[in-house]
Amino acid sequence: MGLLLGCIADDFTGATDLANNLVRAGMRVVQTIGLPDAPIPDDCNAVVIALKSRTIAPEQAVKQSLAALQWLQEQGAQQMYFKYCSTFDSTAQGNIGPVTEALMQAMGCDFTIATPAFPDNQRTVFKGHLFVGDQLLSDSGMKNHPLTPMTDANLVHVLQAQCQRQVGLIDYRCVAKGVHAIADRITELKSQGISIAVVDALSNDDLLRLGPALADMPLVTAGSGVAIGLPSNWGIQPAADSAKLPAARGQQAIISGSCSLATQGQVAHFVAQGGAAYQLDPLAWPSDTPPADIATQVVNWATAHMASSPVLVYSTADAEQVKSVQAQRGTQHAGEHTEQVLALVAQGLVQHGVSQLVVAGGETSGACVQALGISQLTIGAQIDPGVPWCYAPSRFAPSGGLHITLKSGNFGSADFFTKAFQFLHQAAHP
Ligand code: ADP
Repeated sequence: MGLLLGCIADDFTGATDLANNLVRAGMRVVQTIGLPDAPIPDDCNAVVIALKSRTIAPEQAVKQSLAALQWLQEQGAQQMYFKYCSTFDSTAQGNIGPVTEALMQAMGCDFTIATPAFPDNQRTVFKGHLFVGDQLLSDSGMKNHPLTPMTDANLVHVLQAQCQRQVGLIDYRCVAKGVHAIADRITELKSQGISIAVVDALSNDDLLRLGPALADMPLVTAGSGVAIGLPSNWGIQPAADSAKLPAARGQQAIISGSCSLATQGQVAHFVAQGGAAYQLDPLAWPSDTPPADIATQVVNWATAHMASSPVLVYSTADAEQVKSVQAQRGTQHAGEHTEQVLALVAQGLVQHGVSQLVVAGGETSGACVQALGISQLTIGAQIDPGVPWCYAPSRFAPSGGLHITLKSGNFGSADFFTKAFQFLHQAAHP
């Protein structure tokens, strides 16, 4: 079938979120970290290129996105998808508007949509206004976000302020009427000189009605929700096969650098079940201890314990402990030093035969993926909402690759660290 959908995501975990939705809708998907440096598998229907362009300067975000577009065009992708956050995270200058316009310009595209709606995750758009659960975006916690505070829930306004082109609205009444009404509305908006439309969506049904109306649109811009309605435009239906990964072998480990509440609960649960666990206390070593020295000691401990059951290495701590570490070591130093130690532990464990790895924490995941030299992930089945198993080639793995799942802080049930491995085993032997 060749490459159907080419996706450009403005951050790493957002890319996984999109890839996960596409796989659930039946596509075979590969996620790459930055611009791909290796060929993608022949059977892959969609590529999601993960950039880190959400909060960088707009010119940089545009440059990186255009490079990604060019690569996807060269691979023959039939439709492009610019993915941003379901809370429309952007700075006052962008980057959603500038990147959208640059992609439209480069593709010679005269109309696109913009909707972060993701009803499964409580993100809905009504009359152009974004709701987070029951609250308007501007009343939600997003108003205090350190990098991208969102103080206006009216997305037509927010996007218009970032764009030269005119922004309009396709409202919920039109979406409810389905594909023909949406097509008529697009024609009407175009005749008014509008070239970007925010689209209301209150439910998955709305997104599924929207899908067919986008079949001939060269560029779609959205959160991950719109993805559920696109694969059927190519006759693709949900199928267990799309999430198929190689059979899992080798030893099992969990690396946790997340200090989020959900992760604290998962660590406590694993320890309470009698799992082998190593607590990495950042204050246990002098601050100038090379991360590699600490990692060697941890890997030695782990290799003695991991023969028959998963091992957990965690720096996860509660807010009070984290504050105390940050007060003594500085917030940035504490964070980066811990990430480096955990990333080298991940690398050492994989070299020693771990090939089923759970990583908890967004930043921690980024550091581990980098230390493992991973540039491409094939997306498998979802363990918990938004958290799929993946398979990634890595030069550190004796077998050439490993199964890895990257869990961002607040995701996953309390028993995630044990459930994840059982799930992988069941997926291989249904
Ligand atoms: P989350 O997804 O939960 O936000 P991240 O990995 O993105 O998790 O962020 C956690 C940050 O906290 C990382 O920079 C990590 O190195 C740092 N960290 C982890 N453990 C500790 C600790 N005990 N004290 C201080 N900082 C820590």
